[in-house]
Amino acid sequence: MIGPALPRLYGGMILIEYGRSGARLATRYIGLLSTHYQMLREQAENREAPLSPEHDATPADGMPMHELLAHNYELERQNEALRQNQVVIEQARDRYHNLYEFAPIGYIELAHNGLVSTANLTAAELLGVDRPQLLGQHLAHFIALSDRTRWQQLFTSLVEFPSNKRQAFDFKMLHHNKVVFDAHLDCLCDTPANGLPTLRLTLTDISASKQLDHELQLAAIAFDSQEGIFITDADTVILRVNKAFTAITGFSPEEIVGNTPKLLQSGRHDKVFYRVLWTSLNSKASWQGEIWNRRKNGEIYPAWMTITAVYDNAGKLKHYVAAHIDIGATKAAYEQIERLVFYDPLTNLANRRLLTERLHLGVAASIRNKRHGALLFIDLDNFKWLNDTLGHDMGDLLLKQVAQRLMGIVREIDTVARLGGDEFVVMLEGLDRQAEEAAISTEVVGRKILDTLNEPYQLAGHDYRCSCSIGATLFYGYTIPEVDLLRHVDFAMYKAKHNGRNNLCFFDHAMQMALIERTALEADLRQALVKGQFVLFYQKQVSHDNQIVGVEALIRWQHPALGLLEPAQFISLAEETGLILPIGQWLLETACRQLEQWAGQAQTCQWLLSVNISPIQFHQPNFVQNIIALLDQFAANPHQLKLELTESLVLININEAITKMNTLRDKGVRFSMDNFGTGCSSLSHLAQLPLDQLKIDRSFIQNIGIKPTDTLIVKTIIAMTQTLGIKVIAEGVETVAQRNFLLQHGCMLYQGHLFGRPMPWDEFAELL
Ligand code: C2E
Ligand code: MG
Repeated sequence: MIGPALPRLYGGMILIEYGRSGARLATRYIGLLSTHYQMLREQAENREAPLSPEHDATPADGMPMHELLAHNYELERQNEALRQNQVVIEQARDRYHNLYEFAPIGYIELAHNGLVSTANLTAAELLGVDRPQLLGQHLAHFIALSDRTRWQQLFTSLVEFPSNKRQAFDFKMLHHNKVVFDAHLDCLCDTPANGLPTLRLTLTDISASKQLDHELQLAAIAFDSQEGIFITDADTVILRVNKAFTAITGFSPEEIVGNTPKLLQSGRHDKVFYRVLWTSLNSKASWQGEIWNRRKNGEIYPAWMTITAVYDNAGKLKHYVAAHIDIGATKAAYEQIERLVFYDPLTNLANRRLLTERLHLGVAASIRNKRHGALLFIDLDNFKWLNDTLGHDMGDLLLKQVAQRLMGIVREIDTVARLGGDEFVVMLEGLDRQAEEAAISTEVVGRKILDTLNEPYQLAGHDYRCSCSIGATLFYGYTIPEVDLLRHVDFAMYKAKHNGRNNLCFFDHAMQMALIERTALEADLRQALVKGQFVLFYQKQVSHDNQIVGVEALIRWQHPALGLLEPAQFISLAEETGLILPIGQWLLETACRQLEQWAGQAQTCQWLLSVNISPIQFHQPNFVQNIIALLDQFAANPHQLKLELTESLVLININEAITKMNTLRDKGVRFSMDNFGTGCSSLSHLAQLPLDQLKIDRSFIQNIGIKPTDTLIVKTIIAMTQTLGIKVIAEGVETVAQRNFLLQHGCMLYQGHLFGRPMPWDEFAELL
C-alpha cells in the first residue's frame, strides 16, 4: 500500500550547469513525473510489500516499515538512474564540444566593434593562428588586403542593420597572415537583450572548390577550343563532341553521339595504318599523326589528330579523347611554299635546288640499281636576242613552251629542271649498265630534244624558230662529285655552242683538261688583284689630221706563269665569277688617277680617256654614285672620262640605262657605244640614249673593201651618226685604205694598229 505521506520524487529533466572550462558546477532536477519514475516507485512498493503484520508495524514516526524500505529502495534506484543519465549527458556534452571545436567549418562570433569574441578551433586553424591569438583581434586583419574595404563595408552594414536572415559572402582571407585562400562566410547578426549586436559567422575554406571551378572552366574553354574534340567510351562510341568538331566535320552532336569514329573514315588509309594507330594507342595510350577524314558532306580533308586513351585509377580503360585540326589550308600553304622553294614559278619545272636533290638521289640510285644516269644541259640559242628585241613577255612564252616540249620527251622517272634564264637540265635515270649503251640512249634523247625544240613556236601570233645547244655527261656512283657533274655539262654545252649551235656535245677528256685549266685560272684570278697583277694598256684614238684626241684603257693580266694575258682570256671568267666588280673598281680608280695626272699637262689636259664598262658593273645600283665619288676623290675632270658601253648592256633595261647615263652626263661624263653593229639596237633606241659617240666594231672595219655587206654597214653607220648628230669612231683600223675609206665617208676618228697598239703608259708617254 502506498502511503500518501511519502513525498514522491518527480524526476524527468536534469539540468547540469558547466563553467567555461567545462567543469560541472551544479546539477539540478527539474521537470515532471515521468513514467519511468512511476515505474521505479511501483517496483519498490511491490518488493517491500508487508509479508506479515509485524513487518507492517508502524514505528514511532507513524510510517510503516515496509514503506520506508520501499522508499529507500526507490531512492537508490533513482540515484542509479540519475547517474546513468549524467553519463549520457556528459557524453552528449563532449560530442557537442567536439563537434563545435572540430567541425569542418570555422565558427566565429564578432562583437559589435568587429573584435573576435568567440571562435572554434577550426576557425583558428583555418586562419593559421592559435585561438588565443584570434580572440580579441579584428577579423579584418585576416581578410586579404584586396577585400578588406569590402569587408569593412559589409561588417558595418550587417551590424547597423541586423537581420535574422542568414547572408553569405565569399572573401579572400589570409592564412597565417600571408597565404591567401578563398573563404565562404555565412553571417547572421542578432541583437540580444543587452542591445549590442553580435555577428555570428561560419567560415569555410573554398579554395579547393574554387580551384576545381577554375579548372572546370579551363577544361570547358579547352574543350571548346579550335581543335575538334570527341570523347568516346572504351568501345569507341562517341559520347561528346565540341563546337569545333561540328564546325570541322559538319556533324552536329545529335548526329554523331552514339556513333563510332568510323563515320569519319575517308577510306584513304589501309589496314596497316590503323594497325599502327591501335598499337600505339594500346601500348603508349596515345597516337598522333596525319589522317584523312571525311566530312558530313563527303569532302575528304587532311587532319592532324591526337588520340589519348584515358584509364581510371584501377587501370581500366574508360575513354578515348581525340582532338584534331583541319590542316587542309596549312597543307595547301605548305605545298605552295614547297612549290616556291623547289619549282620554277614560270615553267613549273624543278628548280636548281630540287635538281640538286634529285641528282643526289639519282647518283645513289645509280649504284643501287647498277645503272647509269645522264645529265643534259640545254641552252637556247639566241634567247637573249629574243628577249632584247621582242621583250621579256615573249621570252617567257618561249620558255614555257620549251618546258612543255621537254616534259613531253622524257619519261616519268626523269627530271626536267630550269636553272634560270634559258638554261634547262634534263636528268635521265635507269640507263644501261654499260657506259657505251647509256651514252647511246643519252644521245638519242639529246637528238630528240634538238629536233623537238627546233620545231616552230607560236609566240602570241609570231612564228618563231629556236635552236638549242646541249652538253651531256653520264654519271654512275660517286666517282665524280655532284657539283662537278653540273659544271661538266655546262662546259660541254658551251663547247656545243662554240661548235656552231644546234649541237650536242658530250663532256670528254679534252674538256676535262680545259675545265681543269679554267678552274686553276679562276683560282689565280681571285689572287690577281691583291697581288697587283693587272696593268692598264693605253691605245690612242686619233682624228683625221693625226691628232691624239684620247686613249682607250685596255686591261692586261700579268700572269706569273702564263705571261701577259689578253682580256679575251679572262674577262668572261671574271664576269662569271663576279670578280669583274673589284677589277672594274680598280680600273676606274686607275683611270681617274690617270686623269688627275693629265690635268696638269698641256698636251693631255684635253684628251678623253675611254674605259670599258662591263654590264654587271653598270647594273650595280650604286654605279653612278660610285663614279661620281671616284671623280671627286681624284679631282678628275668628268669631261675627260668616256665610258664605253655595249648595245646589249643598254638594252637589258633601257630606262635604267637612260636614267643612269643622264645623271652622269649631267656631270660631264660621256658615253660611247662600243662594238656597234654587232648587236641589235634599233634606231629608236639609239635616239633615246644620251650618247656622245658610236664606235664601229672592228669586224666591219676589217672587211671594208672585202665584204660588200660589211662595207655597206660601215657606210650606213656613219650616215646614221650624222642623222643622230653624234660622233663616230672606227675601231681596228689597220690599213691606210681602211682609213681613207672611212675619211671619205665622213668618219673622222680612228683607233687601230695603224696609229698605235695598246701599250703601258710609260711606253706611251715615251712615244709622245
Ligand atoms: P674593245 O673595247 O672593243 O677593245 C678594242 C680591242 O680591239 C682591244 O682588244 C684592242 O687591243 C683591239 N684592237 C685595237 N686596235 C686593233 C687593230 O688594229 N687590230 C686588231 N686586231 N685589234 C685591235 P683587247 O685589248 O684585247 O680587248 C678586247 C676586249 O676586252 C675589249 O674590246 C673590251 O671589250 C674588253 N676589255 C678590254 N679592257 C677591258 C676593261 O678594262 N674592262 C672591261 N670590262 N673590258 C675590257
Ligand atoms: Mg672598247
